[in-house]
Amino acid sequence: MSTYATTNPATGRTEREFPSIADTQVDTVIGRSAAAFDSWRSVSPDERAAALRRTADIYAERSDELAVAITTEMGKPRAESVAEVELAASIYRWYADHGPDLLADETLDPQGAEESIVQTAPIGPLVGVMPWNYPYYQVARFVAPNLMAGNTIILKHASICAASSALMADALHDAGVPGDAYINVYASSDQVADMIADPRVRGVSLTGSEKAGSAVAEVAARNLKKAVLELGGSDPFIVLDTDDVASVARTAATARLSNTGQACNSPKRFIVASEHYDQFVDAVVAEFESVTIGDPAADDTDLGPLSSVEARDTVIDQVRGAVEQGATLHTGGTAIEGDGAFMRPAVLTGITAEMDVYGEEVFGPVAMIYRAESVDDAVRLANDVDFGLSGSVWSPDLDRARAVADRLEVGMAYVNEHGTTLPGLPFGGVKRSGFGRELGRWGMGEFVNAKLRRTA
Ligand code: NAP
Repeated sequence: MSTYATTNPATGRTEREFPSIADTQVDTVIGRSAAAFDSWRSVSPDERAAALRRTADIYAERSDELAVAITTEMGKPRAESVAEVELAASIYRWYADHGPDLLADETLDPQGAEESIVQTAPIGPLVGVMPWNYPYYQVARFVAPNLMAGNTIILKHASICAASSALMADALHDAGVPGDAYINVYASSDQVADMIADPRVRGVSLTGSEKAGSAVAEVAARNLKKAVLELGGSDPFIVLDTDDVASVARTAATARLSNTGQACNSPKRFIVASEHYDQFVDAVVAEFESVTIGDPAADDTDLGPLSSVEARDTVIDQVRGAVEQGATLHTGGTAIEGDGAFMRPAVLTGITAEMDVYGEEVFGPVAMIYRAESVDDAVRLANDVDFGLSGSVWSPDLDRARAVADRLEVGMAYVNEHGTTLPGLPFGGVKRSGFGRELGRWGMGEFVNAKLRRTA
């Protein structure tokens, strides 16, 4: 049974607890969602778009309150929390602007008939299972296209995001989304499995760990339901060549420490051409040692706590294990004394394929830096993990960089930037990073019926 509570990771104090639903309520929730689907699907696309546009406006109006909630419950530094609220609002706005066109009928060559068209029809109630690391952004990626399409949603957020998930539901309802078209539930994993298995539910989208993803996908497959999975990553950041190692290292460090290193598409492995390697390592160490670690609610904080003491200790154990197996620790990797979930950011080198950490996702402020002896060696290292979310290649020679980007086994390859996420760009991975895509027109295509209508 999940326990929904706000425990401030900066202080360790549990500030509020939230009652979970009873097993007997699962059927009621699904029934409400199914009934709402019958009416929400009949609302015109323009009216659904208007509700999403109002949601974006409400996010802007309530930005402070929304930002404080996630800073308190998962420790995101304040400026990053505000930026996340803006990003989520931009996703609602993008689908409001583009949704009606994306849903328009597509006329095909009639091929001898009176007409052949493809309609984009909603499929029904969906379950969303979301993680705590970007509480608003992750939900917006799933909810905006699907409400736009006419689906209804039962949303189970991470148990530490009970407060922010309630605020999201308020924003959507105040914007005109019917109460039962979007239902926020505090549910356990077993209750989620029961929801997915119910014939009235038509699909599930999960963003989170491989473990949760495979559990949910298993139930979905057994019940022949569509699933979208956005899972972990260990993204490569490949420095091919540069005129300014310090600048690339600063960008690398900032990207790695954003959200206290807890991003699926954070660059976790830095693969650096041999001639720049030593200078790059020194520069990243210097950057990591200069960050201000502290209260995420304070304006001058660069690095807040991890989401919980358990999450922090998992990362520290991974660093310790790597060192025990022979890796070199250049800085950090230790807990900061006190009740909060703080740690000093770490830089590891000398990691080999035999070490556990080589193939693991390190979900915290740790840079793993590798020396590449050649371009082929860099590509080999980049692809030599089970993940395939995103990756970046850095070089002033764009043709050279693009040629390497094209060899990366990832869903998103960047040249001279890392991890840009915008409402109109597809987001998703390959290999064990999951399947399906969110955002842009791709995010609208996952849970719809591309329905042929042909008139002879
Ligand atoms: P998590 O433990 O897998 O939790 C994610 C969500 O799944 C939470 O709502 C959790 O609920 C729920 N859950 C866990 N086990 C479940 C089960 N057996 N059945 C149904 N629901 C279950 O992941 P996390 O620690 O919150 O997030 C970190 C992971 O997410 C990292 O691996 C990260 O890379 C990945 N991630 C991927 C993306 C992407 O777009 N690819 C984006 C962000 C994060 P409770 O909280 O109640 O346990």
